[in-house]
Amino acid sequence: MKIGFIGLGNMGGPMARNLAAAGHQVAGFDLAAPQIEGVTPAASAAEAAAGAEVVITMLPNGQILRAVAAEVIPAMAAGAVLCDCSTVDVDSARAVAEQAVAAGLGALDAPVSGGVGGAAGGTLTFMVGGSDAAFATVSPLFDIMGQKAVHCGESGAGQAAKICNNMILGVTMIATCEAFALADKLGLDRQKMFDVVSTSSGYSWSMNAYCPAPGVGPTSPADNGYKPGFAAELMLKDLRLSQQAAESADADTPMGQLAAALYTEFVENEDGRGQDFSAMLPRLSARGRKG
Ligand code: NAD
Repeated sequence: MKIGFIGLGNMGGPMARNLAAAGHQVAGFDLAAPQIEGVTPAASAAEAAAGAEVVITMLPNGQILRAVAAEVIPAMAAGAVLCDCSTVDVDSARAVAEQAVAAGLGALDAPVSGGVGGAAGGTLTFMVGGSDAAFATVSPLFDIMGQKAVHCGESGAGQAAKICNNMILGVTMIATCEAFALADKLGLDRQKMFDVVSTSSGYSWSMNAYCPAPGVGPTSPADNGYKPGFAAELMLKDLRLSQQAAESADADTPMGQLAAALYTEFVENEDGRGQDFSAMLPRLSARGRKG
């Protein structure tokens, strides 16, 4: 397949490389002009998109996506599919899809989970919104870049699934960390705490698969000095998107709101930036009830 790939950063670079390694013809564009094995560099986003059957974008935010889409959509061949894999706000995802469909193109929002390890290893999970036909066209590419693609519904449904999942993740990580910090102060051994909670009703992915306490549970960023993993600022981005969506849909999300406020404090006013999001545990451990 002829593919245009725009945004060749930490995630997009290895995703584009995997598509090229599988035998697809990939033209890539990124403002930073990185060299990606097997990917032919294009001089602009429009040049990467011209003549491609599928154009994939992997960009930092909705504003940049809207700008790139405005350039790329007129350059795309009729019937081609624009597939955005970035994590962006639901409104931007829907607006870009509407423009693409109005121009006679297919459109998908297909954010991912799995991080840079998943991008490099081709084991991402895609959460996809858009038409059946567009999903069928891009499915073989999802199979190369990932291990699972769930068609969640119409345009915006992929982004909705992503931010709802990550809102649960942010909230449960904080709850898990504050429970460890309380357990410490009650004199409960962390290993015993893990042994009980990981097999009791408090279990979650945060406790069982990504335990925030070093030396306890499976190996996680906590065992590597809280080096990400999934950086606190990326969790903050997703929590903010969840609150933006909740605002626009008039949904009451008090726990998501509090999680966003705590990660804002951690990333913007403390030392959270550049640390894994599970570093909420040492942060809470170091505090008392009055801060
Ligand atoms: P990144 O900053 O490494 O990559 C983004 C790339 O986009 C950069 O290389 C930048 O030069 C390029 N870019 C910016 N504006 C551009 C433009 N106008 N035209 C062309 N290129 C442009 O970010 P990343 O970690 O690769 O993340 C990309 C997206 O994936 C984000 O939306 C992020 O939220 C999402 N995501 C990231 C992870 C992760 O673990 N890194 C996990 C899941 C989802």
